[in-house]
Amino acid sequence: MANHWKQKGMTTSHSPAKILDLLEAFRRSKVMFAAVEIGLFERKPETETEVRLAEACVSLDLLNPDFSPTPDAARYLKRNSPDSLVGYIDFSNRALWKLWGDLEGAVREGTHRWTASGTLFSNFYETDDDMREYLSGLHGFGRISSPLVASAFDLSRFKTLVDLGGATGHLTMAIKQQHPDMRAILFDLPRVMGFAKTIASGIEFAEGDFFADPFPSADLYAVARILHDWTEEKIHKLLEKIYQALPSGGALLIAEKLMDDDHGGPIGAHMQSLNMLVCAEGRERSLPEYETLLRAAGFNQIQAKRTGSLVDAILAEKP
Ligand code: SAM
Repeated sequence: MANHWKQKGMTTSHSPAKILDLLEAFRRSKVMFAAVEIGLFERKPETETEVRLAEACVSLDLLNPDFSPTPDAARYLKRNSPDSLVGYIDFSNRALWKLWGDLEGAVREGTHRWTASGTLFSNFYETDDDMREYLSGLHGFGRISSPLVASAFDLSRFKTLVDLGGATGHLTMAIKQQHPDMRAILFDLPRVMGFAKTIASGIEFAEGDFFADPFPSADLYAVARILHDWTEEKIHKLLEKIYQALPSGGALLIAEKLMDDDHGGPIGAHMQSLNMLVCAEGRERSLPEYETLLRAAGFNQIQAKRTGSLVDAILAEKP
């Protein structure tokens, strides 16, 4: 879009290009969501309005001029592709779209936009289909970032991993793949286990509530995209519980998108932080902010690695 305005000779030191681009950005997202929902990456358009949507997808380089999917779309926007991101697109279209629709309300009131009562995850998992959609979405993200998180540090000295809130086990499996002798246990809510077992393989499963139930013993715990969900009070509780469960020399692996220390970026971390505002209780943090939380629980020797992907990695050791 910015180039479009430059080509038209409209770029001045006060160019409207950035504002006009942001004005339109949500329409481009919605075109992709609607095309996925209608099935335009699985079949050709059939009606005049489907053709109009398909032509917009051609302009976005998601479909070729003959309406076949481009290579990126074939890999990420087809339902049955192993790398499919359709789960998270469906979740964004069905749920996040409405929650973000009242971002200003979330900012004013400081609370998420789910309206039903119950626990936070009873909103994400209102129906079993909703749960599968959300978890499939995270699985698609995890296939991109978990191998990078798993290789961010030398984990070879650890004997047993428990991936707390591990969902479909993408991180558990990525670590197990790199360390075949390590015992790798996926821990999540009982409701998630049935679906996780249809996706994950080569690992063990344990069900429970990480706030209320004891954890399986381990010398390495992982929390991927967990801490950003919750209030500071709940994070303290969880980190202290993990610290107590670890032996001396054990460690906690965290996967979250890191904010710059001065919160100047990256944009993805800010978008994720606002996403946490509209659909969860937490926010994204910088490394110094995570260090403060970790040191308060007793951890020292904290290292971080920016993966350049969807989430970064932190390793915090128990002395
Ligand atoms: N770690 C996964 C990832 O990186 O894709 C999933 C992250 S998702 C944001 C949060 C996960 O925590 C979900 O799988 C959810 O079922 C799980 N979860 C939420 N509350 C939990 C609880 N009280 N005990 C155990 N797991 C919980």
